[in-house]
Amino acid sequence: MGDTELRATPLPVNMELTKLFRCARCGISYSPSKSTSSLRLTYCSFFCELGDLGFSMSGLEHMQLRPRQDSVEPPSPVGARD
Ligand SMILES: [Zn+2]
Repeated sequence: MGDTELRATPLPVNMELTKLFRCARCGISYSPSKSTSSLRLTYCSFFCELGDLGFSMSGLEHMQLRPRQDSVEPPSPVGARD
């Protein structure tokens, strides 16, 4: 079956703003236009986005990889082959 193609289905803006979405985390119906989440089509609020993902998409823009303070080394592969 040819179901591997990804199809883009752009929504008309008006529909997008008036249609009620169901939050992927808390399950309430909400209006995407009022969502504080940057993933407003998925989460009703920033907090649900944060709670579900563990981080926020908007926060990622300012987030950088933090140097590890603890010198935690990944387990070295024993007997790893080249
Ligand atoms: Zn929610």
